[in-house]
Amino acid sequence: MVVVMHETASEENIQNVIAKLTKINFDVHRSTGVNQTVLGAVGDKRGLDPRELEVLPDVYKVVQITEPFKLASRTFQPRDTIVKAGPVTIGGDKLVMMAGPCSVEGRDEIREIAEVLANAGASVLRGGAFKPRSSPYSFQGLGEEGLRYLSDAARENNMVSVSEVMESSQIPLLLEHIDILQVGARNMQNFSLLRDLGKIRKPVLLKRGLSATIEELLMAAEYIMAGGNYDVILCERGIRTFEKYTRNTLDLSAVPVVKKLSHLPIVADPSHATGRRDKVTPMARAAIAAGTDGLLVEVHQNPEEAMSDGAQSLYPEQFQRLMQELDIIARAVGKTW
Ligand code: PEP
Ligand code: MN
Repeated sequence: MVVVMHETASEENIQNVIAKLTKINFDVHRSTGVNQTVLGAVGDKRGLDPRELEVLPDVYKVVQITEPFKLASRTFQPRDTIVKAGPVTIGGDKLVMMAGPCSVEGRDEIREIAEVLANAGASVLRGGAFKPRSSPYSFQGLGEEGLRYLSDAARENNMVSVSEVMESSQIPLLLEHIDILQVGARNMQNFSLLRDLGKIRKPVLLKRGLSATIEELLMAAEYIMAGGNYDVILCERGIRTFEKYTRNTLDLSAVPVVKKLSHLPIVADPSHATGRRDKVTPMARAAIAAGTDGLLVEVHQNPEEAMSDGAQSLYPEQFQRLMQELDIIARAVGKTW
């Protein structure tokens, strides 16, 4: 339920409504817009007569949110959320490019690629230090050392960093080094991890699960937001279908669907979606055209030797060309980098 206050509502009357909602055991999430204060009330509304709220001073209207996700819905917040990570903004009219290798492989390797990516226009450096591999015998990541290399390389190139957190016990370590915490597709419904990420105050990049519906993705975001962390960036990274030629199927129709249902920014990951580098560029172009707020792309200076996901990693030259092409598409959809 959303309580929309009058444009001229006094702080006292806003506090009065918050007190009333809290008294009847609702969690209140306040959103102060340009014109109006909106109070998102989450809780059990059985037995509550909405008129009790409607008659309070300075209440403009009470709106029921019919979707199961509340804080993530556009009803709660009509304007787009713009997530900030240091100087980088995600959402709104500006596009973001997050790029880097699948895994952080060493200090020199990540520094070298970071410089190339920053010069080409990427503002977020990606790289996994804790890797969710299908096989327990595959490279599992450099752990804390990898996080340190990633954050140093990002800082040296005026970028911010994003890296995956696989379990709650790793959160403090990531908070120490990393700007945006990534929840991988395999963890999208790890509800205890999501709850713990609700308690932090750094942005979370939430990847869509391999077989998750859009509603389930938004409900996963709701878990994080219910804890008070509203800085959630969604990521469409392909879902598993019967198609075998591509690693996954990039569901680009999720982009306009999410844009209608939610105010949260959404980026696309054409690397994990397609699994093949020759398919990454066309799908990256399509994702920007479809209205994403940016991209997450794997790039490696020597993909043949990559410790993970080499086949889907772009060569640096391919990435540079892609950025130039995306410039044109961005302008066509009214966005800038
Ligand atoms: C990744 O970004 O490296 C990754 C493991 O992605 P996903 O969780 O989407 O498979
Ligand atoms: Mn990868």
